[in-house]
Amino acid sequence: MKETIRQTVQNYLDEIFEITRFLYQNPELGGEEVKASETLCQSFRKHGFSVETNFCGIPTAFKASYDSGRPGATVAYCAEYDALPEVGHGCGHNLICTSALLAAVALKEVLDDIGGKVEVYGTPAEETDGAKVAMAKQGAFTGASVVMMAHPCAVSEVSGTSMCLLPMMFRFYGKAAHASACPEEGINALDAVIQLLNGMNAMRQHVPDDVQFHGIISNGGVAANVVPDFAEAQFYVRARKKATAEEAMARLVNIAKGAALMTGTTMESLEFEAPYYDLCTNQALCNVFVENQEAMGDVVKPAGIGNGSLDLGNVSYQAPCVQGWFGFNDPSLVMHSREFAERTVTEEGRRLLMRAAATMALTGYDVITDCELLKNIRLEFETI
Ligand SMILES: [Zn+2]
Ligand SMILES: [Zn+2]
Repeated sequence: MKETIRQTVQNYLDEIFEITRFLYQNPELGGEEVKASETLCQSFRKHGFSVETNFCGIPTAFKASYDSGRPGATVAYCAEYDALPEVGHGCGHNLICTSALLAAVALKEVLDDIGGKVEVYGTPAEETDGAKVAMAKQGAFTGASVVMMAHPCAVSEVSGTSMCLLPMMFRFYGKAAHASACPEEGINALDAVIQLLNGMNAMRQHVPDDVQFHGIISNGGVAANVVPDFAEAQFYVRARKKATAEEAMARLVNIAKGAALMTGTTMESLEFEAPYYDLCTNQALCNVFVENQEAMGDVVKPAGIGNGSLDLGNVSYQAPCVQGWFGFNDPSLVMHSREFAERTVTEEGRRLLMRAAATMALTGYDVITDCELLKNIRLEFETI
């Protein structure tokens, strides 16, 4: 049956690679991926999937699914299709979505025999607002037994981790007064921000090594001779794990409360952007994924450090996750460049699409047919 999967990938490779090309020629920024989502949804329908557009209330998000009607695991793939300003598909998302599409089509070919479901989540705006965060917040991925994604890169690499990033904005409210004539009447909101910064800096040496704080004063008053009645600061707390970042953030919020007490101001804190959780690669899933990737002739490097933040991280707290890196076999290639975008539509890009789709479809097959594997994936997921 694995041969049927590989054969199906070959059969539809050219047809689906055409979509990669079309997206390369029509790059759309995050949230504006109208042509991309339409083209992908059209292809899913043509291949017998049912498609839900405007998924989770996000205009360019979608969910495509095929249910064998028989019991079995739900195998999900994530599709990204947003491009970047200037460099178009310089992150290769035109291959991410097509590899998800081709994987789903290939797995569907055997699904009536093996049971289970296959789903593809169309997740817009990875480079900006990260729609996966909003989708995860609505519990979109909780029904999936596993979630897989393939990302193009210079040289193939095992799915690793990413940093958890928590954003927080602090607003302090005081009382304005003439800074020289009647300073005793004023309550200085800028002083509160300064105390917050000092407290945060003192905390730096008493947190685990991987915790980072960075930020700005986004409002520090309007005139030197007016006691600022309002001041605002924005911070990011990052750490390798969500729990560590949350603990550091709780301490930062306490420092802000202390700063308000010290200065007599009132304080409010609010999440000014979406939080990105760390990517928890499910090792049991990842091992099988890499076996299939290597069986497709790929040479896969060990996982990297992963200092960035990904919206797939939020998904990985809802379902066992893997993000395989599929290389163009050129170590000099730089992501987010025009050269990277051009590479997606070459023969090497076509081969990458084939390897990524086959790997994900074959891994989906393993998840559905190997009960022991699914049990181990589940057990590991429950301990994150
Ligand atoms: Zn990118
Ligand atoms: Zn990317």
